[in-house]
Amino acid sequence: MKKNYSAVWENCLKVIKDNISHQSFKTWFEPIKPVNLDDNVLTIQVPSQFFYEWLEEHYITLLKKTIKKELGSAGRLEYSIIMDNSYSSEPYAIKFPTSNKNITSNQPVTMPLDLNNGSSKEIPNPFIIPGLKKIKVNSQLNENYSFDNFIEGDCNRLARSAGYAVANNPGKTAFNPLLIYSNVGLGKTHLAHAIGLEVKSRYPEKTVLYVTSEQFTNQYIDSVRNNNQNDFVHFYQMIDVLIIDDIQFLSKKEKTQEVYFHIFNHLHQNSKQLIITSDKPPVEMSGMNTRLLSRFKWGLSADLQVPDLETRIAIIETKLYKDGVEMPRDVIEYLAYSITTNIRELEGALISILAQSSLNKKAITLELAKKMIDKFVKNTSREISIDYIQKVVCDYFGLPLEAINSKTRKREIVQARQLAMFFSKKLTKASLATIGHHCGNKDHATVLHACRTVNNLVETDKQFRNYVEELDKKITL
Ligand code: ADP
Ligand code: MG
Repeated sequence: MKKNYSAVWENCLKVIKDNISHQSFKTWFEPIKPVNLDDNVLTIQVPSQFFYEWLEEHYITLLKKTIKKELGSAGRLEYSIIMDNSYSSEPYAIKFPTSNKNITSNQPVTMPLDLNNGSSKEIPNPFIIPGLKKIKVNSQLNENYSFDNFIEGDCNRLARSAGYAVANNPGKTAFNPLLIYSNVGLGKTHLAHAIGLEVKSRYPEKTVLYVTSEQFTNQYIDSVRNNNQNDFVHFYQMIDVLIIDDIQFLSKKEKTQEVYFHIFNHLHQNSKQLIITSDKPPVEMSGMNTRLLSRFKWGLSADLQVPDLETRIAIIETKLYKDGVEMPRDVIEYLAYSITTNIRELEGALISILAQSSLNKKAITLELAKKMIDKFVKNTSREISIDYIQKVVCDYFGLPLEAINSKTRKREIVQARQLAMFFSKKLTKASLATIGHHCGNKDHATVLHACRTVNNLVETDKQFRNYVEELDKKITL
């Protein structure tokens, strides 16, 4: 009896599914189509050359085993690679991304706090009056940042499931506070919103609030100015789920930290949920009140890692699907392969390619993608920050990071500080004043002087020039 190729492949898939992660299965096996079975040779169709190579490289043993099981030791596997030209003639149209991710600036804010910091317009009692039974708070949550849109991968599994557990049972799990940390562009803000949205849908009566730590700080400053700090504190103390994004910006803001500390304690004692995001784990946070830091360690700190290739592909595919656009498989793979460390950049590159194709009525081809990505990767492959520069410089000279900000005039430290200033000027868009402020609280003239000194030394001192060249490499690598 002749075996049916679909049935054979179906059986293979069952085995494969049990042996690899769900995400890998979806990425690499669901797109495969069985097309023929002849003389114990099973032919499967794969979407691209790259796809075929990836299977051969990573799943060959598994494939061999399953084929042998199904077809006996004479069983063979053949690939048929689709050369897909269906995209090449038709330029496709895109809807420009309508979802506005930048939620802080253009959403109507009905939250009872003045978010237009700096403006001195009088708001008649901007705060909710404590004691009122029914309050309405704009949670400031972005609907697009849902769990549904948050692709799961090894890189985020712990944080995601902890977040999910918290959303199901806010304030009642051991994950309180839940602290999510990672480098930029890896999904902290997204995950924080997802938790908030999930709580709102499960417990509509609960008051959820998302604020950035800048908003929090500015509101606090305003409340001091308007002499209604109590109202500020009371408002925050009645929140059920308080999400503070990028807590590192509270660094060195002692008063704001203190008031947050009180709010934190009150909420925690009343089994309310606290969610915090940060660019560092608590042990590495600097400029933070130690009592506050010790509170952060009460709950769970979960990090988000750089996503692996499968997850990056899945993220791109989900975005495309949501926007209702198609893109050739090889372009998707190329994108996922080229941009590895920052999901925001991955999305940025994706949008540029779509825009470019749409504006110039050009088909999305690998060639176009390569051109765009080259530009993208060169220009913005990494957001180099002053903090990062300081870290590299200090590591390089074996100095503690605090040295840069200390008052000391020791030669080696002065030099490290000058180098940090020099590279900050060269590699970031920050102003001289900002750079000075971050490097030991100096003024812009000091920064200018540092840049000149470094330039002079590079000309005259060979050893110094070596330092600068090596540092440059390390920072921009
Ligand atoms: P962070 O706050 O860590 O800098 P964001 O939460 O702003 O990062 O994420 C940057 C972009 O990447 C957002 O558009 C977000 O939707 C997207 N993103 C991050 N992680 C995921 C994920 N796991 N699945 C889908 N999109 C993601
Ligand atoms: Mg963020």
